[in-house]
Amino acid sequence: MKISFSPPFIDQEVIDEVVDTLNSGWITSGPKVKALEDEVVKITGSQAAVAVNSWTSGAILMLKWFGVKEGDEVIMPAYTYSATALSVLHCGATPVMVDIEDDFTISPGKVRQAITNKTKVIMPVDFAGWPCNYDALTEIICEPEMKSLFIPTSDKQEKLGRILMISDAAHSIGAIYKGKSGAVACDVTILSFHAVKNITTGEGGCICLNLPSAFDTQNEYRFLKMYTLNGQSKSALEKSKAGGWKYDILFQGLKINLPDLNAAIGLAQIRHYKNNLLPLRKKVALAYFEGFKLFPWFIQPPLCDGERETSYHLFPLRLKGITEIQRDRIIEFIMEKGIAVNVHFIPMPMMTLFKDLGYKIDDFPMSYKNYAHEISLPIYPQLQPDQINYIIDMVISGVEAQLTETIDG
Ligand SMILES: *Cc1c(COP(=O)(O)O)cnc(C)c1O
Repeated sequence: MKISFSPPFIDQEVIDEVVDTLNSGWITSGPKVKALEDEVVKITGSQAAVAVNSWTSGAILMLKWFGVKEGDEVIMPAYTYSATALSVLHCGATPVMVDIEDDFTISPGKVRQAITNKTKVIMPVDFAGWPCNYDALTEIICEPEMKSLFIPTSDKQEKLGRILMISDAAHSIGAIYKGKSGAVACDVTILSFHAVKNITTGEGGCICLNLPSAFDTQNEYRFLKMYTLNGQSKSALEKSKAGGWKYDILFQGLKINLPDLNAAIGLAQIRHYKNNLLPLRKKVALAYFEGFKLFPWFIQPPLCDGERETSYHLFPLRLKGITEIQRDRIIEFIMEKGIAVNVHFIPMPMMTLFKDLGYKIDDFPMSYKNYAHEISLPIYPQLQPDQINYIIDMVISGVEAQLTETIDG
């Protein structure tokens, strides 16, 4: 049996929506992007949603919007995909990495210790779709002591008067935090619509705004839309209308808009996300849980507690008492059986770029521990029960074989 890791969900409705766009005479940013933004607002309850061409470009945009530049610091977990830190480097600022807790999310205590008078932003990451401890993080950035450390150097910073929280929610559309969408738990939440994410536009992303009342969100929305289009006063669609030829370039923007052709894919998916695609992912996760729960080596991934529920983006299986080398052998065994698995994440300090910049994995023991024990199993709506059972059987065989070998030798 051949099982891929995370194929995109493409049904007839997705194809029809794309074909409709192709036939419409308008393929770049236009009505489909607006419709997708409206769906994101509906699903998350956010004040506004700005579609962009990737999570990464959305993060660069929001850091620039806040005026983050050379000399500034942005706090984030070491345990994430490198885009989190790369977006900060693109702005000339310094990523300050801190360790995670056992549940993969950034440690609020470590965030507090890392705050200096250069800190402008913190970027928690909802790993696998599991929301961070947003209440603790919000409490920290709102403490009078932390506010008095904050030195505003831009209009937006002046207006906010504290550290901005931008969550890396690349995995977590549909996650729940204290009865609401996880996306409204902090100032800015950025989703990814990359090909492997829960909702995809091939490449793409979306910025959810939930700014404090000092900001006029609709104004910020219009400004950010211009920012995604070279700082141009009119979109291409507005310009294309009769008499709409005159425009201005108001400031130096980026060119990171999402085309309608891409938006169409996500639009067809997102309409069925809450009632169909997300529950199907959950079903896979629960089947894995049932399959593994009696084994002493099984460490249950965070899925649901009284306050949070994951978006089931990944099933991060962790194996108790296993070394990195044994984990790698188990992966090899599973791969040989035709099943594609992955590891989320190789912590950033283990990557050449960050090693060269002086980051050391030894400073992040929990990140290393979770990395060394982890195998991400396939999880997506199209997975069939016989495939899920096959994966469970092969994982058990692979792990048990390794454990037996350890006892024998
Ligand atoms: C996928 C991912 C990103 C990057 O998303 P892009 O849309 O590819 O830029 C950022 N952070 C995390 C945690 C991710 O998994």
